[in-house]
Amino acid sequence: MLLRNCRYLVTQNAARDILERVDVLIEDNCIKEVGKGLARRFPKEESVDCSERIVMPGLINAHTHLGMSGMRGFSDDKELAAWLAEIIEAEHARDHKQILAEATLGVKECIRLGTTCCCDMYSPGDVAAEAAAKSGMRLVNCPAFFTAHHALSANDIVKHLPVKRYPSIISMALGPHSIYGTDEGFLKATRAFATEHKMIIHIHVAETRKERVECKERTGLLPVEYLDSIGFLGPDVLIAHAVWLTKGELDILAARGVKVVHCPQSNMKLAGGGVMPLAEMHERGIVVALGTDSAASNNSLDMFREMHTAALLHKHHYWDATAAPAQTVLDMATRDGARALGLSDVGSIEPGKLADVILLDTTDINLQPLAKERIVSHLVYSASGLNVSEVIVDGKLLIRDKKFPIR
Ligand SMILES: [Zn+2]
Repeated sequence: MLLRNCRYLVTQNAARDILERVDVLIEDNCIKEVGKGLARRFPKEESVDCSERIVMPGLINAHTHLGMSGMRGFSDDKELAAWLAEIIEAEHARDHKQILAEATLGVKECIRLGTTCCCDMYSPGDVAAEAAAKSGMRLVNCPAFFTAHHALSANDIVKHLPVKRYPSIISMALGPHSIYGTDEGFLKATRAFATEHKMIIHIHVAETRKERVECKERTGLLPVEYLDSIGFLGPDVLIAHAVWLTKGELDILAARGVKVVHCPQSNMKLAGGGVMPLAEMHERGIVVALGTDSAASNNSLDMFREMHTAALLHKHHYWDATAAPAQTVLDMATRDGARALGLSDVGSIEPGKLADVILLDTTDINLQPLAKERIVSHLVYSASGLNVSEVIVDGKLLIRDKKFPIR
């Protein structure tokens, strides 16, 4: 496939080059070549006219619960405990078929709005994988584990992993829900299993002040200190939220190479208070990705909205308009998201990378006036997922002319 005459190509390569009027050759599931004149050299290649398109890497949503997508608008504007009680009751009332239908809805929303890869945590552990495999979206699938209601042992980890073999766009990881949702023995078992099987571990950490106080009362340690004390942390651990942390805990995260997913809209909607210390994380070299969390607490899976909110939140919080600049936030949703998930082959458009690419319609009114030096600004401050016109995952065209699905 040839992306012909790209008006702008936002490569997100190391130099953050934005190229004009170039072609992108995709062969099988890989980006083979980027440059001018490819259309002349490959005249028979199936091509997409990109003369009115911004071409960029697909967005990476590093924290979702796709199986909750049917709960959008079901419980809003409620205090956290009341909200959670309603959500849990509704979750337990559904059967497997309904949960799969909700996960499919979530995957379709992601694809339509320009997300080509998610990291999803949910139980049952097969629904997101089923939905993503069927729709063609890349997924890091993290079956969720809770021991709060019944004990789990190391043997139970295998039982909760899907037995079915999925295509290469689906990778498996482990999702112990949280410190308060899983006991210490199981956290240690998860750590050992992940090391043995080279899987990443995804867990909610320091989302609320309550979690921090309870952890301190129960263990004498703050959440990150506690996880470090049981040998849990490492470069294969991805923690979601990471709002209520001390500088000492940030130092531990940096020393262990732990990755973070920032979920600003979910945190704000559930009124978690505090703001994730983004600048302090970046100062320490911590890799920070971006995620929406579920449609029950966001209520959108649109990563363009999430980028916008992240950029604004940190400027407001630090009283500093230079905080969280557009390029930094775009990095979080693309190349840093890929690093956080351990996916070295996505997150930028360069020869040799996997072809996860999205196109935006340059004729849309909210992207005017169009100029090379304004593209990154437009993507973060003005665009929405509805500007996405084509979506390619693993070399397959899933959306064409904003129509979904084409297969
Ligand atoms: Zn979550």
